[in-house]
Amino acid sequence: MRIAILSPEAVPFAKVGGLADVSSALNKALRADGVDSLLILPLYDSIDRSRLKVFDEELGLFWRSKAPRIRVWQSDELAAPTYFIDAPHYFHRGKIYGDGDDHERFAFFCRAAIALIRRLDKPIDVLHCNDWQSGFASVEMKRLRGHDEFFARTKILFSIHNLAYQGLFDPDDLWWLGFGDEKNEFLSNGAASALKAGAMTADALSTVSPRYAHEIQTREQGYGLDWLMRLRSNRLVGIANGVDYEIWNPETDPHLAANYSLDDLSGKRACKLDLLRRFGLPEEVERPIIAIISRLVAQKGYDLIRDAARAILDTGAFFIALGAGAPEYEDFLQSWHDVAPYRVGIYKGFAGEPLAHQIEAGADLFLMPSLYEPCGLNQMYSMRYGTVPVVRATGGLDDTVRNFDPSSGDGTGFKFHQYDAADMLEKIREGLYFYNQPEVWKRIQLNGMATDNSWSAAARKYIQLYQEMPGLR
Ligand code: ADP
Repeated sequence: MRIAILSPEAVPFAKVGGLADVSSALNKALRADGVDSLLILPLYDSIDRSRLKVFDEELGLFWRSKAPRIRVWQSDELAAPTYFIDAPHYFHRGKIYGDGDDHERFAFFCRAAIALIRRLDKPIDVLHCNDWQSGFASVEMKRLRGHDEFFARTKILFSIHNLAYQGLFDPDDLWWLGFGDEKNEFLSNGAASALKAGAMTADALSTVSPRYAHEIQTREQGYGLDWLMRLRSNRLVGIANGVDYEIWNPETDPHLAANYSLDDLSGKRACKLDLLRRFGLPEEVERPIIAIISRLVAQKGYDLIRDAARAILDTGAFFIALGAGAPEYEDFLQSWHDVAPYRVGIYKGFAGEPLAHQIEAGADLFLMPSLYEPCGLNQMYSMRYGTVPVVRATGGLDDTVRNFDPSSGDGTGFKFHQYDAADMLEKIREGLYFYNQPEVWKRIQLNGMATDNSWSAAARKYIQLYQEMPGLR
């Protein structure tokens, strides 16, 4: 089986959020199961070319009434071959997203990716599109395979990693982007939506947790597309992301002050001390650390943290936050740190991977009070690192964290249900109550560390989906 995965992000090359971890890890897991997979990414200016080699000097394609020739690069760094579309005009922007012409940039990426697949000369069984940035490719593939023998047997899977980001733009642009005939597929409440077009045209849809697959069919979480998700629910599956344990494993993690494992947790203390030092906090190792790593957007529950900021400190814990995003939340973190510099440690910005690993290892509780969460990765990383997650029971957080039950001793974290600061606080307090009972705490830590969220199970579900999804509709 031959699969081409299109993604706007993949570690270690370009990362904004979880999609980057998922794109690489899925590829690797597919390869391990004998699937002939490949990955196609844009070549952003942040990607170091010295680790790549040129694959094709002049890949030809048609774009806006012209026939440009572009360079394609290749990397063998990942288990699966990775190709990069080199178009400086579109991808040398000093950032990955956020320009007014993002729809044009990624429509170009999709056009070039399909030209590349053709150039590779070996038909693919499935085109696996991810998020709105590859929605254009789904539309184009559906059109192409109707008259192009090379693609006649290619099926299209569209994966939704976050339904709230729909790639909206002015429908008038559809004509010059080459999608005038497919206007209906794109139109959504008066705008053109690349995500909607992808979801309309793909043969099957997936999303990143079973619970989220249900939630996006509701008005509350459907972001105006719940009707489409319900309409296509017989073609929509939820497959929870996994963890790449070669990267996220406290036993071997090279970024930690000390390694530790299920059998010997003692190194975690050194990691905690190291973390306190990194954030300039007093070396009070007995005091619990609550941590968060996330994009600073409303989705991640920062309004609850702001409402509860004072009460969180009243619990006696340290709070450590790593995040980049909306100025209002950056300002909040800064002012919180300013009033309590010895209790609140912050890093505003996108840190390299090492700091995220050091926080996972050094913290005691990991907070994810998300308004919604398609899957979430940090709660799974936390569990592996013996750091106990406190999460809101939504989407993948609900699917992957088991609430601790003191009577049976089962559970890997603490879950609250209402999107409410008081409910969140109650669970933080409950967590801290057990933190102060070392035997119970260790039990919760070990329950989490022993949980298997590896990619192999998820990859097998994708393979089954690739095999069983219907072809030409
Ligand atoms: P989302 O994809 O919605 O951002 P996930 O929990 O699925 O959320 O994945 C987030 C990923 O991005 C995690 O690997 C996390 O460690 C990383 N991350 C988020 N913010 C930062 C940051 N400011 N610096 C470094 N890594 C970050």
